[in-house]
Amino acid sequence: MIVYSLHCSEGHSFEGWFSSSGAFDEQDAEGKLVCPVCETRSVSKAPMAPSLGASVGERKSAPAELRKARQFMTGLRKYVEQNADYVGPKFPEEARKIHYGETEERHIYGEASLQDVKELVEEGIDVAPLPPDMNETN
Ligand SMILES: [Zn+2]
Repeated sequence: MIVYSLHCSEGHSFEGWFSSSGAFDEQDAEGKLVCPVCETRSVSKAPMAPSLGASVGERKSAPAELRKARQFMTGLRKYVEQNADYVGPKFPEEARKIHYGETEERHIYGEASLQDVKELVEEGIDVAPLPPDMNETN
């Protein structure tokens, strides 16, 4: 079986299943191809578009969404780097000091293990993972 993406003169897209490419030409020549939406007989093959359950529009917008998300994360990372002190592996310790008022209140970022983060959250300290540096992969 061969699946063709078909479209009619009204712009409806649908799939047609044929036993061979010759079968398509045959049915096309005999005027047997009918749009299931508007029943027009002017149906033609769409440019090869493998059907993966996503419309062409969705496929087009995906990279744009990804770029937006990447820009957002890069922006967030930049903001943190410019407005927070890097404390490295001392992050859990510094976060606690700030939380309990033992040092000046400020934004910090650094490294913490999952266990550290879990404990900080349990103590009511706000921590958030820093997005990875997306610029590297551009
Ligand atoms: Zn149609």
